Amino acid sequence: MSKQVITFHYELKDESGKIMDSSKGGTPLSFLEGSDQIIPGLEEALILLKKGEAKDVRVPYEDAYGPYDQKLVAQVALNQFPAGAPKVGDVFQIEKDGMHRLITVIEINGDNVTIDGNHPMAGKNLNFWVQIVERRDATSDEIDHGHAHVAGGHHHH
Ligand code: ZN
Repeated sequence: MSKQVITFHYELKDESGKIMDSSKGGTPLSFLEGSDQIIPGLEEALILLKKGEAKDVRVPYEDAYGPYDQKLVAQVALNQFPAGAPKVGDVFQIEKDGMHRLITVIEINGDNVTIDGNHPMAGKNLNFWVQIVERRDATSDEIDHGHAHVAGGHHHH
């Protein structure tokens, strides 16, 4: 069977039921099966659904953004921030081992800044509502590129 491109709407809630993210009323997401475009636990569930079908999907953190890693929390000096004083909640992109990572400022205490390199959803069990908008066979271009091509989507080749 050929790989599928699946387009779906979603709503994401945290454990308290608070909505973290949603595509309702906006543009649905598309992904190419087997290309790591979305978290594995969600992909497994979506692949089993038919067009128009909706489902609540709970994805444990192991199958979402992984465990929270305390080792990614570090203290740095305030003067390490060349662009001026950071605020709690500021997010910076850094390059480490050739990878882009996001770090979040979680505490500032005098000259000490505590930063957290975990994904904001790390360690969190995620509760999705999903609905399949469309599913079709992937084109050979999409399989070559390893991502879905969506009408009106941006091109990035
Ligand atoms: Zn492409």
